[in-house]
Amino acid sequence: MAVEIRIPAEDITREYQRIKDEVAEAIAEVLPTCKFVLGPKLALFEEEYAAYCETDYCVGISNGTEALHLALLACGVGEGDEVITVPNTYIATAFAISYTGATPVFVDVDPVTFNLDVAQLERRITAKTKVILPVHLYGHPVDMDPLLEIARQRGLRVVEDAAHAHGALYKGRKVGSLGDIACFSFYPRKVMGCYGDGGAVTTSDAELLDRVRMLRYMGQHQKYLHEVIGFQQRLDELQAAVLRVKLRYLDESIAARRRWAEMYTEMLQGLPVVTPVEVGDVKHVYYQYTIRAPRRDELKAYLAGRGIGSQDMYPLEVPYQPAYAHLGHTMGDFPEADAHVKEILCLPMFPELTEDEVQFVAETIREFYS
Ligand SMILES: *Cc1c(COP(=O)(O)O)cnc(C)c1O
Repeated sequence: MAVEIRIPAEDITREYQRIKDEVAEAIAEVLPTCKFVLGPKLALFEEEYAAYCETDYCVGISNGTEALHLALLACGVGEGDEVITVPNTYIATAFAISYTGATPVFVDVDPVTFNLDVAQLERRITAKTKVILPVHLYGHPVDMDPLLEIARQRGLRVVEDAAHAHGALYKGRKVGSLGDIACFSFYPRKVMGCYGDGGAVTTSDAELLDRVRMLRYMGQHQKYLHEVIGFQQRLDELQAAVLRVKLRYLDESIAARRRWAEMYTEMLQGLPVVTPVEVGDVKHVYYQYTIRAPRRDELKAYLAGRGIGSQDMYPLEVPYQPAYAHLGHTMGDFPEADAHVKEILCLPMFPELTEDEVQFVAETIREFYS
């Protein structure tokens, strides 16, 4: 009989219990107005989230995948172009590229941070390259300065996939403000999530802002005058109201994630696992606390047998997915990403964990390897 999972890998029900009165109030404010689309709460959230990300603008989008899609379109990406990203990301990063008609080109990753290896970036740039699309994987910021320097020299745009990294810092600057434009997901269990699908782009480029705004609402500046073939991809007013509540708790939530990460790291010392580290002047937000673990699958089953959830994220790299068979990649094309995919394990991580739970997870891992 399967053991009940008492410490899930991710959980938002405990947070809901903590903030439910404020959420109910926020929703109750919207309902009688019946302004459910492009209303005042969305405008307020966009203002507040731009301020949080230290950018001039934010545009609420229906989800993170569409935020990437519209950001790429706004950067002029289309048929025949190439966009450089990493193999070890959620499929949405690559699909957004493919939606524009462009081709994703993958660069291997740094063995320590699992993020795009900037040293290998230049050799992937061709005459067709339009955009570099780094992913701040698990909440650890990409080493952006050398990447931005290469982009500047080559005249390329940089789109950040910040879906894992709300609130993360790179050299004191907020993720979301580093490239030309950045994309966030507010899928419920992300570092900041809403109560349904949601996403946003942030930018300080007024031209990109204008294009994304136009694209998210049917390609119009003026109602019923459609300048380009646009989309119906707005962030819902009710979700914006929920996100305004969530934003007030974001820094507190990140502090809690960082506390649990520190505790895990301390308690897992001396074991044959590799614990995550912050490389350079960064603030990791630990969307996931990801270890490299020998005999990973056995460990995962062992934890599950003791009521502990965990996940291998992501188990099959994007270039090897059936959807990208036409690109002709084979296992071994990305040695670092290939090696770490077999060993990574994301331990339970959410702000409302307790000290006892973190300790129990760490002790159970110790038990497994003893
Ligand atoms: C979640 C996620 C997305 C897509 O966001 P959705 O809101 O689920 O569409 C994009 N990129 C990465 C890396 C993600 O984790």
